[in-house]
Amino acid sequence: MVMSCLFCRILQGDIPSHAVYSDERCYAFSDIHPQAPVHILIIPRRHIDSLDQTTAEDTALLGHLTAMATQIAREQKLANGYRVVVNTGEDGGQTVSHLHLHLLGGRSLNWPPG
Ligand code: AMP
Ligand code: ZN
Repeated sequence: MVMSCLFCRILQGDIPSHAVYSDERCYAFSDIHPQAPVHILIIPRRHIDSLDQTTAEDTALLGHLTAMATQIAREQKLANGYRVVVNTGEDGGQTVSHLHLHLLGGRSLNWPPG
């Protein structure tokens, strides 16, 4: 728990969020500024700054986060396709320093991103 971290505070319940999925290792909630009809963030309960801060010891956790993104995509009926994105660091466009997977879907997504 990092007091200054927005997503840690969401995990604590200090800041409201719309829960989509929750278990002992992760939490998924609706993005406040959706970029697609479905835009969900999947975060670990343990604070990790970014993907770049993960180590081999986080392999199982990263696999779990990815598997939950896939499970949520099925529940959200994104059978036509979707995108899972992990913005990392300044050049990667990361604005919240708590590791998160974006699950985007419900429309045809452009490539390459900006
Ligand atoms: P990133 O730019 O990859 O770090 O993504 C951060 C995401 O968090 C953005 O898509 C924001 O819209 C989203 N976000 C910021 N504040 C909140 C909030 N209070 N509740 C839900 N999503 C948020
Ligand atoms: Zn945090």
